[in-house]
Amino acid sequence: MRPIPFDNSYQTLADSLFHRQQAEPVSSPQALLINTELAEALNIDSKWLASPAGIDVLSGNALAAGSQPIACVYAGHQFGNYNPQLGDGRALLLGEVIDRQGQRKDIQLKGSGRTPYSRGGDGRSPLGPVIREYLLSEAMHCLGVPSTRALAALATGDPVFREHGPLPGGILCRVASSHLRVGTVQFVAAQQDPELLQQLMDYVIDRHYPECKQSESPYEALFNAILNAQATLISRWQALGFIHGVMNTDNMLLCAETIDYGPCAFMEAYHPGTVFSSIDQQGRYAYGNQPAIAQWNLVQLAQAMLTLMQQPGESDLKPAVQRAQDALNTFPDTFLQAYRQRMAEKLGFSHINDDDEALYRDFLALLEEHDCDFTLSFRSLNDRAAVMANCERGGDSIAGLFQLPNAFAPWLERWQQRFNADATPAEQRYLTMQKANPVFIPRNHLVENAIEKAYEGDMSVFFALQTRLQDPFEYQCDAAEFAAPATDGNRVTATFCGT
Ligand code: AMP
Ligand code: MG
Repeated sequence: MRPIPFDNSYQTLADSLFHRQQAEPVSSPQALLINTELAEALNIDSKWLASPAGIDVLSGNALAAGSQPIACVYAGHQFGNYNPQLGDGRALLLGEVIDRQGQRKDIQLKGSGRTPYSRGGDGRSPLGPVIREYLLSEAMHCLGVPSTRALAALATGDPVFREHGPLPGGILCRVASSHLRVGTVQFVAAQQDPELLQQLMDYVIDRHYPECKQSESPYEALFNAILNAQATLISRWQALGFIHGVMNTDNMLLCAETIDYGPCAFMEAYHPGTVFSSIDQQGRYAYGNQPAIAQWNLVQLAQAMLTLMQQPGESDLKPAVQRAQDALNTFPDTFLQAYRQRMAEKLGFSHINDDDEALYRDFLALLEEHDCDFTLSFRSLNDRAAVMANCERGGDSIAGLFQLPNAFAPWLERWQQRFNADATPAEQRYLTMQKANPVFIPRNHLVENAIEKAYEGDMSVFFALQTRLQDPFEYQCDAAEFAAPATDGNRVTATFCGT
């Protein structure tokens, strides 16, 4: 059997969707971290992957049997402005594999050199963004959020030149259910080739939403399925205080996995207007705007798919526009339903009823007023819930690390009454809370410290943080440094794409 059992399908679509491209070789590739568990789940022999032959493939120095590398083309709205041609400017799709669960997955190199879509860029990445994406994407996966994943992080041995001089270069091997973006559909729609558009959307249905095939109007069903999946995804971001930072339409996947961990960050003190990205001057992609931006991006998707929504017998696009508008109008409510479900899990209720809405809104208002850490504030409710639910626990209370201010006492009284009045057994609700309120998130100062140490040649901080983030729900007092918010001395206030 081939070391990576490639089974490529995107290649069978039109040539206009990609460019065949080899990776540019690197001088002395070195594996920093290989995700052996993920490799095995992808039917890849992890021992081979960590061997010199595997590392040659991961660095782009050798082609694995069955790999047909391509750079994919797409378009996209970047900060609201349409760019008719973007693409894999520093990435290559090596091919696809079928994983142990029968799911098709893309295997991509990021930082593998120039392609026709590199524009002025060098197609490379410094090590920092590679480490950042490895940590963040794997943390998101372990937090239960659909996300692209990291199969390996490599150092290339070559310098990459950025604003402040040379930095060590890196490559990330990324895995996704697919890299098909809203921007991919926008690119194809702009070609004015209805057959190609239909071919692409049939491919999306087959690969991600096969149940839509049974519908009388499969493309409308597809649009609704993507809308629902995105609403659920964004509800998970909001429930964790995750700020993506660049929600451009080319960074929104049709399979609704989180992608592109550039200037993203987890919010510490709760403020809905929080922005980290250095390039987001207007706050377009602020924490509190994310649901509205997702809907805005879905408008662009609807526009790109519109001709497919036309039914036989309709003389113009007006009825299709109306149906697309009706579908789009469901987004706020679909999102709210998903978000309320997340809040129920976080507060330890079986569901959120209309009265509970004021309860969680008041909690968020208190967090904002008192600059409370979003993650630890919710987690501190778990300690109280454990007592109410009579749950025996090891020493995983965070009381020694964090306490809600006294001003929360009246609110806590209301919450405890509601918690005790819920019909579902308290122990069950407490266990759900334990999976909804993490204690370890990839805080920016920890990630930045791991990157800084890696640049000094010390990978141990990266490894220690990676290990900790794999188990985000179990607290141990000796790991307080991984759970504590930033101090005035190490707070990171802006994040950079860094590529
Ligand atoms: P992003 O902001 O990461 O979504 O990237 C936007 C576009 O810029 C994509 O088409 C990337 O492929 C391209 N790009 C970003 N960095 C580089 C680079 N260093 N070299 C070539 N293309 C790049
Ligand atoms: Mg991108």
